[in-house]
Amino acid sequence: MNDTTEVMILKQTDYRERAALVTVLSKEYGKLTLSAEGVRKLTSKNAGALIPCTKASVTIDYSEGRTMFRLKGARTVKAYRNIHKDLVLSAAAGVLSEIADQMTYTDHDIVSAVHTYTLLEEALDLLENNEKSDTVLALFLSTMMKNAGMSPNVDECVMCGRTNAAAVSVRDGGFLCDRCAAQAGIPPRSVTELKRFRLISKAELKHYPIVKESTERTIEDLAILLEILNRHAGIEIRSFSLYQRVFH
Ligand SMILES: [Zn+2]
Repeated sequence: MNDTTEVMILKQTDYRERAALVTVLSKEYGKLTLSAEGVRKLTSKNAGALIPCTKASVTIDYSEGRTMFRLKGARTVKAYRNIHKDLVLSAAAGVLSEIADQMTYTDHDIVSAVHTYTLLEEALDLLENNEKSDTVLALFLSTMMKNAGMSPNVDECVMCGRTNAAAVSVRDGGFLCDRCAAQAGIPPRSVTELKRFRLISKAELKHYPIVKESTERTIEDLAILLEILNRHAGIEIRSFSLYQRVFH
């Protein structure tokens, strides 16, 4: 039987001659891999709908217990044209997709897949409207980390519990007080930097309008959150280095 479902395209990799494997996120079925025959031919009528950072409607023959399906048809629902024509925005969207892909497991956990889908849609809409990409990314990641129970501890020193924060420790996953930071050889940060990191770590993407008003650049906070993700979950977001190069 044919099922048509709305998906976010996360990733496309070459597969055999002229074919591609497309990783998608569906609200109904979670994360799926679709094999798309002939998609790399320029004339393929499905190709446009299968570009990463596109919302598409795909037709597959769904059956429970499997996560890979042959794609029978695809149609673009939302193309995010503004993102795709801008270097910084498309690099930012690449980071979003990679985070969504790497932090979603193909284990039929529909609840978390729905959260991620909704969050990704919200973040792409903000980028499409030319909002601040570094803050959108930082809040997207901090919400994803919160949902995964991986938020850094920014309420007290992770080592001794004192509340006078002086530094951020990636290794310990949160704030350190002046004494513990000195002991660990971690350089102190300014009060402004600590406050901003605390705000980013506590806020969610829905707080974007408030955070945007109260912060300037948040790319360093994003970088620290990515380091924590890498250190504590072993997840490395490779597309971030391209984003860092094009971001000003
Ligand atoms: Zn301490």
